[in-house]
Amino acid sequence: MLQDKDRIFTNLYGFHSPDLQAAKMRGAWDGTKFLLEQGRDWIVNEMKASGLRGRGGAGFPTGLKWSFMPKQSDGRPHYLVVNADESEPGTCKDREIMRNDPHLLVEGCLIASFAMGAHAAYIYIRGEYVAERHALQRAVDEAYEAKLIGKDNIYGYPFDLYVHHGAGAYICGEETALIESMEGKKGMPRLKPPFPANMGLYGCPTTVNNVESIAVAGTILRRGASWFSGIGRPNNVGTKLFCVSGHVNKPCNVEEAMGLTFRELIDRHCGGIRGGWDNLLGVIPGGSSVPIVPADQIADAYMDFDTLRNLKSGLGTAAVIVMDKSTDIVRAIARLAYFYKHESCGQCTPCREGTGWMWRVLTRMAEGRAQKREIDMLLEVSTQIEGHTICALGDAAAWPVQGLIRHFRHEIEKRIDDYAANPHSESVMIAAE
Ligand code: SF4
Repeated sequence: MLQDKDRIFTNLYGFHSPDLQAAKMRGAWDGTKFLLEQGRDWIVNEMKASGLRGRGGAGFPTGLKWSFMPKQSDGRPHYLVVNADESEPGTCKDREIMRNDPHLLVEGCLIASFAMGAHAAYIYIRGEYVAERHALQRAVDEAYEAKLIGKDNIYGYPFDLYVHHGAGAYICGEETALIESMEGKKGMPRLKPPFPANMGLYGCPTTVNNVESIAVAGTILRRGASWFSGIGRPNNVGTKLFCVSGHVNKPCNVEEAMGLTFRELIDRHCGGIRGGWDNLLGVIPGGSSVPIVPADQIADAYMDFDTLRNLKSGLGTAAVIVMDKSTDIVRAIARLAYFYKHESCGQCTPCREGTGWMWRVLTRMAEGRAQKREIDMLLEVSTQIEGHTICALGDAAAWPVQGLIRHFRHEIEKRIDDYAANPHSESVMIAAE
């Protein structure tokens, strides 16, 4: 269990003021000058040694990502872009950082930018996050006033930080779509390569990082890489914000050690499963784009990148969506399929056509109005989308469907049988509602 002394986000719940003075008393901006004096390479090496894996979903090592930026500028400016477009259904962790502990993020932006030779950083914040934008902008203004950032700041490293408000498209959370959107174009993902580290924002070397990944940087450097890497399990270290929603007694956001078990997470922080552990049906452990894991496999599983990948799912954003046995699982996944259909940018045929096709078939299956042979057809179509698109939205749309078929095929078949036996029965009509 994570001890209070090891918490990075000590104002996650907003019990204290988010302003600069209070943030400093909690430890933000402490010794920042000393950290910068250690130099770019030291910072990048410490981040590598800390074992921090990106908190935006993919789990790519953050220090390694920073090291991809060119060591010397070829004349083009370098940029840091912070992805605050938190739009994955179930995910609400970055929101709390920006509301209640924004100075950790502002300080992290300065440190990360320094480590990558960037003199400007942009925070791209989700369109619906209006209050969060105001809170963040307030923190940025305070930092400018106190000369912690700005062209003539006390650290002698000219640095500007801009908050950019998106317009509410899920796809702008994809790093290249986000860059396109910032450039004033439609938020459509780019083909890679070239990768942003070579050609990102305005054609310049750019690193895109998640809010949480940047906000933890200052504390990691202050306390040391070995402190962070000593928490959690091998290759899955540090603390992590979990957002638990759904059928638990007390849904919450909580910072915990990586690699605690699902049962520990739920019993310790969420008051248990609604109706008890025997009532658990399944869990989507990392935001809506990762496959569901059934109750018997998830209950005592470690909540980390590697364990969940071995269960054919993923930690993703650690947005844990808990479903008890009252859930109409086919209908729930059909609803997610609608979300991905709605959010597809339409560039790639498999995604544009496939997401809508999957949604329509799943909607029929939720009612039982389907043929059993269509289950395999649906699975086949999902594999034709997965890995055949420009960006990961195709995979994100395919994986929940694959998880449903892998673990709940019997439920779809039962629906089909019930409907065939009595197309107008009450239970079938309820499922169709
Ligand atoms: Fe757009 Fe979908 Fe292709 Fe991504 S996978 S680029 S969202 S059409």
